[in-house]
Amino acid sequence: MGATAVYPGSFDPPTLGHLSLVERGLAIFDRLIVAVAVNPEKGGLFTPGERVELLSESLLDRFPGGRLEIDRFEGLTVDYARRRGAAAILRGLRATSDFEFEFRMAMMNRHLDDGIHSVFLMADHQWFYISSSTVKEAASLGADISDLVPGPVARRLRGKFPAKG
Ligand code: ADP
Repeated sequence: MGATAVYPGSFDPPTLGHLSLVERGLAIFDRLIVAVAVNPEKGGLFTPGERVELLSESLLDRFPGGRLEIDRFEGLTVDYARRRGAAAILRGLRATSDFEFEFRMAMMNRHLDDGIHSVFLMADHQWFYISSSTVKEAASLGADISDLVPGPVARRLRGKFPAKG
């Protein structure tokens, strides 16, 4: 069997930046597990269950063939990755802002388990400046964000924040 990677994140909500990373991850790894990291202390706009649903609705049709799985986990990412038999943790890098944080996380994860490798990919350039938080903020102010997120996410955001004007 080939290599499996875990792509962990908040995904609150999933954006087209996340989808771009999944597409690129699947070009490298045989199996990719997109996993919602559940942090009971960190609320969010969507519940972990809703995020899993949104990821499934946004991804499973687009990437058929059984190489992609959507899951959720609590606790350390390296523990989850080990449990799932993954060789790598996939993370994304956007224009400069992510580097410091991702570097520290990767070093901590390596300290915890030297056998699980952090792999960083960049999304397609049009998503360099897109984050879940800016999408949420714009949507909450009534902006049309339908070209930044998958269809199911746009629909759910419109339900939460009716468009203005
Ligand atoms: P977290 O709270 O774990 O950072 P996110 O859902 O915000 O969760 O992000 C998950 C991963 O996806 C992170 O590695 C982040 O850098 C990456 N990511 C998010 N948006 C983009 C994007 N537009 N382009 C590239 N990577 C991204």
